[in-house]
Amino acid sequence: MVRLPQNPDKRYLGASLDLEAHDLDNIQPQCKLEEVLATGYARWFDPDTLEEIERRAFTLCQWCVGEASETA
Ligand SMILES: [Zn+2]
Repeated sequence: MVRLPQNPDKRYLGASLDLEAHDLDNIQPQCKLEEVLATGYARWFDPDTLEEIERRAFTLCQWCVGEASETA
């Protein structure tokens, strides 16, 4: 089980290593969040929105956010 950072106000976590953004509500094993956290590449978004994620040139993780982003 991945130990998530304690930040209940945030939903999305960005990995600055590969510029991927993850949805903490829907984390999958393929997200490899443990690596992100262990190496200190975790970044929060402010505001915590998909628009901000795109503005900062992060891509959405296909495992945890990819599906949701396609829904209108
Ligand atoms: Zn992910």
